[in-house]
Amino acid sequence: MAQLTVPLCNAGSKMYVNNRGKNMRTPIIAGNWKLNKTIGEALELAKTLQQGLPTTKFEIVVAPSYIAINKVADFLKNSPIKVSAQDMFWEDTGAFTGTVSAPMIKDAGAKYVIIGHSERRQFFSETDETVNKKIKAALKHDLTPIFCVGETLAEREAGKINAVITTQLDGGLRDLTANDLAKIVVAYEPVWAIGTGKTATPEQAEEVHVLIRETLAKKFGDTANKVSILYGGSVKPSNSKELLSKPNIDGALVGGASLKAEDFLGIIKNA
Ligand code: PEP
Repeated sequence: MAQLTVPLCNAGSKMYVNNRGKNMRTPIIAGNWKLNKTIGEALELAKTLQQGLPTTKFEIVVAPSYIAINKVADFLKNSPIKVSAQDMFWEDTGAFTGTVSAPMIKDAGAKYVIIGHSERRQFFSETDETVNKKIKAALKHDLTPIFCVGETLAEREAGKINAVITTQLDGGLRDLTANDLAKIVVAYEPVWAIGTGKTATPEQAEEVHVLIRETLAKKFGDTANKVSILYGGSVKPSNSKELLSKPNIDGALVGGASLKAEDFLGIIKNA
């Protein structure tokens, strides 16, 4: 496994470095299918996952493309596997060509929506401000946002992890209350680890998860302990167990390895 050896951030106190809070939080393993799978292929994958799903304490979520959400959600309606969208627009209706709204994805069967994924930030001009609007719109429609944050390799090497993560959290969660925070899932996804095969070590990931929880605690108090924080970045069956054993890593957001049933089920089994 390729691992980076750049300096870690200074996450601060050991306040959250224990397993006490972990059972207050929903453990989640989510698969982001990105720009992959026709409707038929998405259904095939959903079927294989459903058939092979082991008994697990984890909430299992899959995020197909917009056009496959309805079919996949319909197929999974009696299954414990939940469906997520990969993004959404913040307005409900209107002259916004090419976009899809929270009421639409909810109507199609989604319960979750990924917001602020680094690929949206990188290729589609997503900013902390638009992320904030989307999170508010998702909450208004009872969708659970999976709010992604993470630093690039250049930011990590420049010792800016702390600044980048706290800025993304502050901007994305602007004007929200502790009650709102309790309905949000956060995903820490170091950009350098997404789709690259380079994985943060469990220690590197845990350190940033602690930073995230402490930043949330400063803003929202004790509710921070109830927020599930997922790790994402080249998670696979061979590294998931160790990552998920860390006190502040409550689950995983999986890209590449969620496209093959065997790998995604392997991650769930190992967890
Ligand atoms: C992702 O895109 O959210 C992701 C974590 O991708 P991968 O697992 O392929 O690195």
